[in-house]
Amino acid sequence: MKDNHGRTIDYLRLAITDRCNLRCHYCMPASGLDWLKRDELLSYEEIERLLPIFSSLGIRKLRFTGGEPFMRRDFDQLLTRVAESQLFESITITTNGVLTAPYVRLMKELNIHSVNLSLDTLNPVRFASITRRDVYPDVMRTLHALVDAGIRTKINAVIMEGINEEDILPLAMLSKDLPVDVRFIEEMPFNGRGDRHAIKWNRSGLMNELSKGLGALDRITAEPNSTSENYSAEGHLGSVGIIAAWSRTFCGSCNRIRLTPSGQMKTCLYGQNELDLRDLMRKQLSTQEIATAIEHAVLHKKKDGVEAESARTPVEESMATIGG
Ligand code: SAM
Ligand code: SF4
Repeated sequence: MKDNHGRTIDYLRLAITDRCNLRCHYCMPASGLDWLKRDELLSYEEIERLLPIFSSLGIRKLRFTGGEPFMRRDFDQLLTRVAESQLFESITITTNGVLTAPYVRLMKELNIHSVNLSLDTLNPVRFASITRRDVYPDVMRTLHALVDAGIRTKINAVIMEGINEEDILPLAMLSKDLPVDVRFIEEMPFNGRGDRHAIKWNRSGLMNELSKGLGALDRITAEPNSTSENYSAEGHLGSVGIIAAWSRTFCGSCNRIRLTPSGQMKTCLYGQNELDLRDLMRKQLSTQEIATAIEHAVLHKKKDGVEAESARTPVEESMATIGG
């Protein structure tokens, strides 16, 4: 699929639930969200009706995210069916790692291309304070299981002033002895409260800190459409990177669309819901009609995240309702 800016759209991020077993304060309030009811969620049947349509329209990469994907019952079975369908060239998963370790073997068998593991600190006390849950050892177990299984692992860390800035270098140093890509994400206002503040740890702040701590950094040629700028440091097995999600420097080459847990398609993270695919399916539209509606929405994709956000009320939803 091409959008109206000539970009090839071949990557779908599918959030399969808004529920989560953590309460990261940059993502949602302590009380959680007003969770979707079961019949508001896309059923697995509905998801498995949509995926072949997306594949036929040229989607090659699929990411499962949430909420926490492993919180949804029988996610392992959905993952198995989708992987075995071979509809996509690559399947990736974003997870907080709390429930994930027992599924690492399955992911390896299914040839899952890579896993993004969210980890904002290596200090168990700070972990409990950021996520409001005391489960740091479970996440570390997942990290080591992924590395031991030889699954490509990317660590996502959101750095916040006065909260976990002292974790930047220890997290970056994980890439020295482990073959992991540690990526620092600029904090975005998707916290479920509409709270916006200037961020200290933007791309340039993070770059300075990484160069000070790791010495010379060599830019690694990015995969096309990558959201991260990646660097290697001498003697490191893995890499470090920055995802400038707030500065939005990567929009020009965007190849992504998103599907929320309730089946709303978004053509931009910062945009509003553009197409209610759940409604179209429940109104019994034909496969062809649904495909045409998706193509039509893609043809209205905004140039970048700034344009998308300016066309709506300011962002205030939780990232758990979008998937990241
Ligand atoms: N629960 C899974 C996890 O945490 O990996 C998947 C969903 S989570 C919404 C996806 C990614 O979004 C995580 O890496 C998380 O750190 C990131 N995220 C959530 N809220 C964010 C925010 N306000 N700013 C930047 N990144 C955010
Ligand atoms: Fe849950 Fe992920 Fe949001 Fe944290 S970032 S509350 S783990 S959905």
